[in-house]
Amino acid sequence: MIVGGKRPDAGTLVAMPHVRSAMFMAMLGAVGLGCGSSSGGGDVDAAVTTGRVQVILFTHIEDSTPGGALGTQGSRDQYLGLRARLIDVAGRARAHDLTWVLQPDWKYLEAARLYEDATTTADTGGKNLFRYLRDDLGAVIDPHSHENGGYNYTDVAYLLDVLEVGGSTVIGGHIWDPTLTQFQAWDRFRQPVAGEHYPTASWRGDILIGAGTPGHVNDPLMSGIWRPRARDDFFTDDPAGNIVAVGQWRDDVVGVEELVALYAAGTVAPGDPLTASWNINPASITAPSGPQQIDDTVFAPIAALRDQGAVVSTDFTSLVAAWRAQGATAFVYQP
Ligand SMILES: [Zn+2]
Repeated sequence: MIVGGKRPDAGTLVAMPHVRSAMFMAMLGAVGLGCGSSSGGGDVDAAVTTGRVQVILFTHIEDSTPGGALGTQGSRDQYLGLRARLIDVAGRARAHDLTWVLQPDWKYLEAARLYEDATTTADTGGKNLFRYLRDDLGAVIDPHSHENGGYNYTDVAYLLDVLEVGGSTVIGGHIWDPTLTQFQAWDRFRQPVAGEHYPTASWRGDILIGAGTPGHVNDPLMSGIWRPRARDDFFTDDPAGNIVAVGQWRDDVVGVEELVALYAAGTVAPGDPLTASWNINPASITAPSGPQQIDDTVFAPIAALRDQGAVVSTDFTSLVAAWRAQGATAFVYQP
């Protein structure tokens, strides 16, 4: 995912073109990649199981959503329309016993503060959307921030606190390449960072996901878990590093199958973690029959792979906690 600096509109962002391996595509028809994130929930014991691909399915809500000025009828209508679809998707993930992670940017959260009232919450047991998704439907909620519009990651984490679903330390997507002007300086999170819009807020993200480029035109293709050594040495593990990165890999089920095949063939040892995470974007969620399509093309096949023992459905926080508990073996797979 992309965050910060100049960025295209949400549609371009979520499209996430990636680097693809022509060889693997030819062999396996693989395509894909993604961003990831997490917070709160999850079962640590289940998150890392050797020889199984760790899959994180997530959704970013960009800072263009809802469109227009906050407080207008159009803004409210768009907020509510997406709200209903997010509940639909979360329910479908839960029906498959899959973990789904929601990573909103600041605008949808400020919208929630305006629009979540007694009328809005009548169908969610009096809970705001995020509490309902987390408490009733098992969703995991993390910050996502392009750090535009006067809001940085800490502000988003603060807004999640205000909405009673805070606590995640996931940096839900960032521009990783230090040679780009849009570079988001992930290494500043080695210490707590103050908010911009809410300057008294403080937050230290320590799980880095979705290493992206503007427009996702040249995202790195990697799978695994490690502690980036430095901004200029991102893919090298530093055992003393206090920020953990999770590789995104491709953005579809075929990409997951490619990783499953690496374990099966012995190309990657069972103790070396392989990860895949991607953004099920709001455009696909709000499309006609969008939730059903996501159910059919993502949730059902990932659940089938899970049932075969080939993958684990998790979230970033649970994954990293389990990884630490099991010895924190760093591994970066790049084809
Ligand atoms: Zn984004």
